[in-house]
Amino acid sequence: MKWLTILIVLAAAPFPKGDHSPFTLIVRRPEALQPLPFGAVRPEGWLESQVRANLRGFTGHLDSLAPNLIIKDDIYGRDRLTKNVKKKDVGALAGGDSAAEVQYLWWNSETQGNWRDGFIRSAILSGDPEMLARARAWIRRLLATQDNDGYLGIYDRDLRYRFDGENGELWAKTTLLRGLLAWYEYTRDHKVLIAVQGAVDDVMRHYPSGASHPFYSKTPDVGGLSHGLMFTDVLESLFRLTGQTVYLNYALFLYKDFSAANLHEDAQYDKITDTAYALRGHGVHTYEHLRAVAAAAYASGNPALLKALDDYLHKIGQEITPSGAPAGDEWIGERQGNATKTGYEYCSLHELMDGYIDLMGKTGSAAFGDQAEQLFFNAAQGARDPDASCIAYLKTDNSYYMTGGLNGDSSNPRQTRYKYSPVHQDVAVCCVPNAGRIAPYFIDRMWMRNSSGLVATLLGPCKVTTTWKGTPLTIREKTVYPDEFSFDFQVLTDRAVIFTLAVRKPAWATGQSISYSYTEKEGYYLITRTWRPGETVHIRLYADIVIHRDRNNDVYFTNGPLVLASQIDATAEIRKRYPLAGFFDYYYRPDNPVIYSYKGGAIEHSGNSRFEVTLYDTVRRRPAHIWLKPMGETILRQVTFPETSAAP
Ligand SMILES: [Zn+2]
Repeated sequence: MKWLTILIVLAAAPFPKGDHSPFTLIVRRPEALQPLPFGAVRPEGWLESQVRANLRGFTGHLDSLAPNLIIKDDIYGRDRLTKNVKKKDVGALAGGDSAAEVQYLWWNSETQGNWRDGFIRSAILSGDPEMLARARAWIRRLLATQDNDGYLGIYDRDLRYRFDGENGELWAKTTLLRGLLAWYEYTRDHKVLIAVQGAVDDVMRHYPSGASHPFYSKTPDVGGLSHGLMFTDVLESLFRLTGQTVYLNYALFLYKDFSAANLHEDAQYDKITDTAYALRGHGVHTYEHLRAVAAAAYASGNPALLKALDDYLHKIGQEITPSGAPAGDEWIGERQGNATKTGYEYCSLHELMDGYIDLMGKTGSAAFGDQAEQLFFNAAQGARDPDASCIAYLKTDNSYYMTGGLNGDSSNPRQTRYKYSPVHQDVAVCCVPNAGRIAPYFIDRMWMRNSSGLVATLLGPCKVTTTWKGTPLTIREKTVYPDEFSFDFQVLTDRAVIFTLAVRKPAWATGQSISYSYTEKEGYYLITRTWRPGETVHIRLYADIVIHRDRNNDVYFTNGPLVLASQIDATAEIRKRYPLAGFFDYYYRPDNPVIYSYKGGAIEHSGNSRFEVTLYDTVRRRPAHIWLKPMGETILRQVTFPETSAAP
């Protein structure tokens, strides 16, 4: 389908004669679906519980759990970096290495910016007055740090926009401005939008398009500098809010300059289009940069960039494990995703999911919704502790030990990422902030709109409030999805209103019953009618339990969007106690480590979400009846099963 769209672009707007640069602006491609302002979609049911639990837990308390990185470092304000700052507590592995310390001076801005973004969005989605007051107070304080020329950021005048290597200029702004824009969309407080536009204008003045090199670096290994490509997130949001194409054109310029720079980064154009080049970079960069490639491709409408976007998705596809997670522990290292061997970072889970939902909006393709749900319901839920407010920094689909190293490996005492923590300050406080962002970003794009109506793009319990042709409208989606596949969509209005309700049809659905007449088109159910106040359409989807094979030919099982796992009972060990009551780091060890294989045979679904399958106990050498459960509810587990052919 994307090839078709590329051909359409070619027919409509050929390359300017003789210009074969992939970065030439041909004609902007409009996005298929439009997002709603942040806060228009509110979570209900388990999604609301998760957002509230995060606010009671690590998202609501990260500043107190890591005060040195947040409360004590006013990095956007009085503690802006100057030439005189050579060292600061970034609470990370850089400790002891002075070059690394200078390199990572920006780090607390990422911690703070991403944490605030998740906090602001969670406060809005929960409607909790105390949390909203905290968000409002912080935004007021942050806006007060803006200089008269518009500068918002972490550098004093002696440093800003003047770098020949690692820096956090654009990245510190990106993490900050994403949260400010969510607040603006929710409050419509114009001061916030003006502040963001002022900060972006300041960037465009100091790094003029086509006449500067924001990604120039004397050395190719950088962190904050290449994270800074995600300034395209801010630019795309500003375009959607203002309609000014200057922001999109600047996103195209940034991607062009990034591609030309001497950097070790997978998303550079020449590497994407080199079919022999396998992904090897820092995973979180590689996956977040998908959105920047997409932004440049859509800003330019250039067929070469649109093809590069497809090529990049293909390469990323090689990294995906059954849970939907992308390999990268922290590096990808030219390995393909493997359910046991390639860990995935929580940051990457958030960034890739956000890439999928961005592409769902751009292309309208329902398949991106399937990918976002697969990742969010399985990998992301499956790296949260179901009983305590903490997450795994690194996790694998098959998770046999969570004792610091990969599946019990203890050879590197500094490897502590495979554990559950509300902070992970012994490594880096990057994943916990992102664990507070992922649910709000998922919820935000559960509904989008197009010219004929509203589109339920990601499924789950929620409520969307908007207007349709001037008529205020709320749609409640009542469901316990993904635990069950039945939905009531109730349309609440004061008067009858005509529109098309589109509901994404998941690729796994084998059938459906829908209480109103509908049509099916390109992965969506379409119900067009005059909706009377309070009317409800009931949708039930049907699924088979499917036996899949991963790229190692091991077997795994799914029920609808849920990947099933054999849970391994585990004993928790508290590794660290925080001064704040109720917060701990945990290791988990298996009570009875057994690896099962699969010899064929049916899997049976009993009631209450339980699935029974006969597996083979490779320790005791005998068949075993095993109950499977959704992997998102587990800590230690086996997800993929090697196949053995003959009985002993
Ligand atoms: Zn991380």
